[in-house]
Amino acid sequence: MVMGDLVVEVDVAVVGGGPGGYSAAFRCAELGLETVVVDATARLGGACLFEGCIPSKALLHVAAVLDEAERAREFGVDFGAPRVALDPLRTWKAERVVGKLARGLAAVAKAKGVELVSGRAVFEGSRELRVEGEAPQKIRFKHAIVATGSAPSALPGLGPGGDRVLDSTAALELRDVPERLLVVGGGYIGLELGQVYAALGSRVTLVEMLDGLLPGVDRDLVQPLARRVDKRFAKIHLGTKVVALREAGGAVEAGLSSGETLAVDRVLVAVGRRPQGAGLGLETTRAVVDARGFVSVDERCRTADPHVLAVGDVTGEPMLAHRAMRQGKVAAEVLAGLPSAFDNVAVPAVVFTDPEVAWCGLTEPDAVRAGRPVRVARFPWAASGRAATLGRSDGLTKLVADPETGRVLGVGLVGPGAGELVAEATLAVEAALTVEDLAATIHAHPTLSETLMEAAESLLRRA
Ligand code: FAD
Ligand code: NAD
Repeated sequence: MVMGDLVVEVDVAVVGGGPGGYSAAFRCAELGLETVVVDATARLGGACLFEGCIPSKALLHVAAVLDEAERAREFGVDFGAPRVALDPLRTWKAERVVGKLARGLAAVAKAKGVELVSGRAVFEGSRELRVEGEAPQKIRFKHAIVATGSAPSALPGLGPGGDRVLDSTAALELRDVPERLLVVGGGYIGLELGQVYAALGSRVTLVEMLDGLLPGVDRDLVQPLARRVDKRFAKIHLGTKVVALREAGGAVEAGLSSGETLAVDRVLVAVGRRPQGAGLGLETTRAVVDARGFVSVDERCRTADPHVLAVGDVTGEPMLAHRAMRQGKVAAEVLAGLPSAFDNVAVPAVVFTDPEVAWCGLTEPDAVRAGRPVRVARFPWAASGRAATLGRSDGLTKLVADPETGRVLGVGLVGPGAGELVAEATLAVEAALTVEDLAATIHAHPTLSETLMEAAESLLRRA
């Protein structure tokens, strides 16, 4: 392979270096395929590392420390009023967290012999890419894997709104802590980043157009989070839209569909993400991009063009990093001739709020909607010894099982650490374990994982 003005020939060209793209590239290299990754930002990590999962979780950790310190007064420990210095916080996030992981990914790429090409890639047919940027070049490939991810959606009809209106990327930069923050959207980002800014001292108002937070998620799991957010945020407007945004005298005036006007210092728009499937030149291939911008793929991550595969956010919901990573590995193995498929039964989801909300597999509301009979157990954490020692009894573990076979079909969790507990649940669903299996497995005491065993036992008692 020779880079420069010459046309480069590779086995696999991966377009996009996020979790989908780098997972695909690393696995391709392990399987002996000569691989390049083209990324517009000239680095591996994508939205997840630079403007998503990692920086948001770093800031949520800081928020949790602040909240815990405040709560410690309940058990007689007083740290005094916290003082947050934004410069060291930003440096810690950028260098010790994001930078360290970015350097790690670059080192792995080097060790595996994956070349990173900097620039924006555009398809010129089913076998060639044009790379635009400082060092324009062409790459000829036997196969390409599209992993161009997604970008924040704007508020429809309201325009960009000036620099007081932030998307998640800008909010994660933590330029300042506004006194009054309006969060538009009560989904993953609105709640996670809303909690971060509330912990740092902002007065947060949240506007959600539907009639509940985290629409589509089991209400049993959302309720404890909604109760906590109600206490931490200044106000939550459900069933409400922002219909106007206007900068006025150093503030932003937001007109709500209820007729109310709010004056705030910053607005965070978190109303979903859109796939980056358009503008890639895919029309010069046989791959199909649907009306929403998603690249259509089958369960082996293949598009309608035999030379083009696609993985990650650009291929559909749920737009989650671990789904992108699994698809990336599947795509690579498919190219190497292995019998892999993205046929996972359970894709776990975790909202890293306080309390955390996590679920996998079939949920009770989905079963009801599908008219599928299920048996459901709810184990409130008020009965968990470990939850009591943490002073956090507001959690719930919910088990959804098949009434005939006893198979665990789905698990829902809410409470501190739910995001870690969902790993056992995902394994149970994926491996087709039964309620008996969960009940008979020894769970260390005292741990929150016992709530899974207890939920299983309660189902067996009712059998
Ligand atoms: P991306 O990570 O979006 O990467 C795409 C890459 O493609 C980018 O580097 C981009 O520069 C590059 N690119 C695009 N077009 C071109 C082109 N034409 N040529 C060259 N390069 C191109 N998910 C979780 O699972 N857990 C979380 O906790 C979580 N938290 C999140 C928090 C926030 C604030 C946000 C915004 C997202 C979060 N997500 C989380 C979602 C997660 O970031 C995405 O699901 C994940 O990054 C998708 O990976 P991907 O590889 O498909 O694409
Ligand atoms: P989201 O889909 O989770 O939530 C968007 C919310 O905005 C919804 O509740 C929706 O009803 C609401 N909304 C839409 N238009 C609105 C309007 N005009 N006015 C008021 N409310 C409106 O989207 P997000 O929070 O932007 O996150 C995008 C995606 O990124 C997520 O769906 C998820 O895939 C990913 N993500 C994952 C995590 C995680 O895994 N922990 C964290 C952050 C983001």
